[in-house]
Amino acid sequence: MTFLGMPLLPSKRRSDLPGGQGNVVEAEDFPTVAHEHLSNQQLRNNIGHATSTIRSKRAEVVSELDDWEGLRDAGEATKNEVMANLPEYLAQFEEAFTAAGGIIHWARDADEANAIVTELVEDNAPVLDNGRREVIKVKSMATQEIGLNEHLETEGIDAFETDLAELIVQLGDDKPSHILVPAIHRNRDEIREIFMDKMPDAGELTNEPAVLAEAARRHLRHKFLTTKVAISGANFGIAETGTLGVVESEGNGRMCLTLPETLITVMGIEKLLPRFADLEVFLQLLPRSSTGERMNPYTSFWTGKSDGDGPQNVHLVLLDNGRTRALADEHGRTALNCIRCSACMNVCPVYERTGGHAYGSTYPGPIGAIVSPLLTGVEEEGNGSLPYASSLCGACYDVCPVKINIPEILVHLRGEDVKANHSPVSSQLDAALTGASWMMGDGKRMAAAEKGLPLAHKVTGGEQIDALPGIAGAWTSSRDIPALPEKSFRQLWAEEEADKRDEEGQR
Ligand code: SF4
Repeated sequence: MTFLGMPLLPSKRRSDLPGGQGNVVEAEDFPTVAHEHLSNQQLRNNIGHATSTIRSKRAEVVSELDDWEGLRDAGEATKNEVMANLPEYLAQFEEAFTAAGGIIHWARDADEANAIVTELVEDNAPVLDNGRREVIKVKSMATQEIGLNEHLETEGIDAFETDLAELIVQLGDDKPSHILVPAIHRNRDEIREIFMDKMPDAGELTNEPAVLAEAARRHLRHKFLTTKVAISGANFGIAETGTLGVVESEGNGRMCLTLPETLITVMGIEKLLPRFADLEVFLQLLPRSSTGERMNPYTSFWTGKSDGDGPQNVHLVLLDNGRTRALADEHGRTALNCIRCSACMNVCPVYERTGGHAYGSTYPGPIGAIVSPLLTGVEEEGNGSLPYASSLCGACYDVCPVKINIPEILVHLRGEDVKANHSPVSSQLDAALTGASWMMGDGKRMAAAEKGLPLAHKVTGGEQIDALPGIAGAWTSSRDIPALPEKSFRQLWAEEEADKRDEEGQR
């Protein structure tokens, strides 16, 4: 197996590589939380309405392109190229970014990344009259993953989210439940209540989107103009030029990226693209797959700093947090190709019914079910149920713009979970499956077992079986076992062959 990762990292076995920390572990197992959410009709209505709207918009704009499949192939090939040469591309990126006046910081895990950002904020943001510091933020999955806001709060730093959906989540003391639409579980009435409750100057609001957006704009304007430090994520880092890029819909991100004196970006090491020209493919794949738009309204790129224009202190924290470990998994590493478009969760029947919080991680839905266990290691007890949070219908694979075969990785992780977390015989189900595996693993044993078929047929009276006792009863509570045949296929085959031989012998 090839082990890849950050430059100069000594070659190690996968299980020795550090796992991810932070908000990538289930607090409670998926079935427990999913079960509670299934009875929340309001939540299911909100999510069902939002995902079906985005689904049809996506399908429409994707069908406009004759070369969509070609674009997917190109996206997949480019990301595979990045993952196969990640150390080299990271080194190339660092050189270009530094040459353009930026400063790179390497973070092995969430703790290191949080500590680096805290120090940078303390160096660059003044202490205010209330004794605390302030930063503004562009929506960023990486900073949610490492729990940056919570960490900063304990260090006396208040982080203000500027993305509208993130702001709703933050003001509602809530957690994001979708990669692209973090407040997808809220409807307009709920948002109106949150704004009127938490924005002191909001006044009386209606639930019209334009009214709510205007209230958020007024709330944020002062922060944009007075805050010295901004924190962002990045959708892409270009190895060739040392360029970073953010795509967004509202323009609040661009305000963060241009107005403050200091800009700190936190980006996972897997976000690189080799060449600037690769954006041609990804800027078609991403907006169409995520918001169902031909192009997102605001696309911002920056390469280091420009004297007298924009932030003059430009920092980038390159985050591993388990990515090297995921990369070392030869079956699962393509999960790192993800461009966080969220198309897979918008088509997932499990996500639509349980909502994103059930996955416990910053990354919900089908991609979360593979990426979280890959970052932490599936043997991490908290993530053992995620690979099972899928019907394996394959809809996620069909829509993924970079062709990540999520169902295949889920099956692989289920196997890893069984190896890591289940002793050979720890439950009735394990005992039954171990017995079945032993019997089916040998033709002679299988033939011997099939000899019992005539008796079983007689006992069941040739009828279908509606209920069985014990663990098998859970299975038959939702399915019936068809009537058992008198003879197995193998016996029928042998008899037919014998008849043929007899016929030939008589000729
Ligand atoms: S796995 Fe594919 S579909 Fe899902 S968020 Fe990532 S890129 Fe989008």
